[in-house]
Amino acid sequence: MRVLSGIQPTGSIHIGNYLGAIKQWIKLQGKNECLFFISDLHSLTIPYKPEELPKNIFGVAIAHLAAGIDPEKSIFFVQSDIKEHTELCWLLNTVCPVGDLERMTQYKEKTKQFKKNINAGLLDYPVLMAADILLYKTEVVPVGKDQVQHIELARTIARKFNQRFGKTFIEPKALLPKIGAKIMSLNNPRKKMSKSLGPASYISLFEKPEEIKKKVMSAVTDTRKQIKYNPLRKPGISNLLTIYSLFSKKTIKELEIEFKGKGYAEFKKSLAESLINFLGPFRRKKKELLTREVYVQEILKKGAKQARIIAQSNMREIRKKMGLV
Ligand code: ATP
Ligand code: MG
Repeated sequence: MRVLSGIQPTGSIHIGNYLGAIKQWIKLQGKNECLFFISDLHSLTIPYKPEELPKNIFGVAIAHLAAGIDPEKSIFFVQSDIKEHTELCWLLNTVCPVGDLERMTQYKEKTKQFKKNINAGLLDYPVLMAADILLYKTEVVPVGKDQVQHIELARTIARKFNQRFGKTFIEPKALLPKIGAKIMSLNNPRKKMSKSLGPASYISLFEKPEEIKKKVMSAVTDTRKQIKYNPLRKPGISNLLTIYSLFSKKTIKELEIEFKGKGYAEFKKSLAESLINFLGPFRRKKKELLTREVYVQEILKKGAKQARIIAQSNMREIRKKMGLV
């Protein structure tokens, strides 16, 4: 299978990104033809400082390597290094209904979050994402739940293109983890944990032990003091149970039994310890990679070279189908 997925350099990679996306990527690499990339072009749609972008891209690159992306087993690159992504985005814009874009949940949420910067890129985000996917004739896209709607749109765009210009694209399928496809914010368990919501929303994969403790202990929970999984009535504690289960290999049921009759503080303390143990190796690996900038840049350069070969070859076919010879 050809597998592709990306992540934006909009902040520190958090446990939601890991559980929803990266953990699946690691499982898929080696057994499939995998392409993973840093979607820097997508990240330009929200306010950012140009002078900080290269550092953020580097940070996200090391985060992936530290989390287990193996450049020998997958193609790992930066989106803007492959010009064909933006070229295909424009071509796909001409087959994508604008009404579909206005209906996207992420567009509605981000326009609320960034009221002073509602740029056309925010609306067009899913078309660039469709271009990312279709450019490589991707079959499977491992993502968190929030991106499923965008992948549905990529399927629609592929279908419309194929009908109009002849069979070219494969309709990609989203691949979600059974548990952990939508980790919620620590400070607002009704909202998705997100980089752009700021550090109080998330636990970074590289968070220091003291910070992990602080963030878990102050995570928003519910008034009824029972440790029971019920996402509708007890979203805070249910989110923490999900996180605990995924980082400890205990089932939610087992955790409910273990903490029956115990208080939130005891539960949170134990969860923090579990997270500290699990994330420790990530932090050490990242520290080591921080000193190896040239090595990391070489990996991204090599990845871009490999991706470009596929992108250019498919782009020639697409241009021809559209009459751009
Ligand atoms: P931003 O706030 O800038 O949009 P983000 O945290 O949503 O950042 P993205 O780079 O947009 O991260 O998404 C990268 C991948 O992580 C996607 O596959 C997305 O579905 C997944 N993901 C993001 N947040 C979560 C979450 N809370 N739970 C599970 N998966 C998530
Ligand atoms: Mg996002």
